[in-house]
Amino acid sequence: MTKCIYCGMCQEACPVDAIVEGPNFEYATETREELFFDKDRLLANGDRWEAQIAANIAADAPYR
Ligand code: SF4
Repeated sequence: MTKCIYCGMCQEACPVDAIVEGPNFEYATETREELFFDKDRLLANGDRWEAQIAANIAADAPYR
């Protein structure tokens, strides 16, 4: 999370919705290491936000 500037270009370019930006914008941490996401943290993040992300994609679908 230290490299991404949340421009959304990867989400727009992905043809199968494998890359989606979630609604979480609170990435403030005390250490740089806390911003490194391994597979377990990515999966947990997906579990936490999946319903909201699905709702956002459905709401956006008529405009794509
Ligand atoms: S293309 Fe995706 S990963 Fe790269 S900076 Fe933009 S939002 Fe972040």
